[in-house]
Amino acid sequence: MRTTEENVCARDGCGWTTEHVWVADMALPTSYCSDACADFDWLRRCLDALELTADVIALYGNLRGVADVLDARTDPTQIGALIDD
Ligand SMILES: [Zn+2]
Repeated sequence: MRTTEENVCARDGCGWTTEHVWVADMALPTSYCSDACADFDWLRRCLDALELTADVIALYGNLRGVADVLDARTDPTQIGALIDD
């Protein structure tokens, strides 16, 4: 049995519960509430892997702005994927 805490989105500061994806007729839990949060953490990991230059510091600032927008959602599906496939 999963606890409520395990069902919370993996992005820091996000309180929405995780979504499920359908794989072979099974609803499998994901780590994030939405594509937006999953994309956000992917972008953050990309920045973490870069050398900390003035440009990268500016990008971290932009990402904080995105986090503020995500944190202000009243529904996790309000904002779609941040990255186009
Ligand atoms: Zn989330």
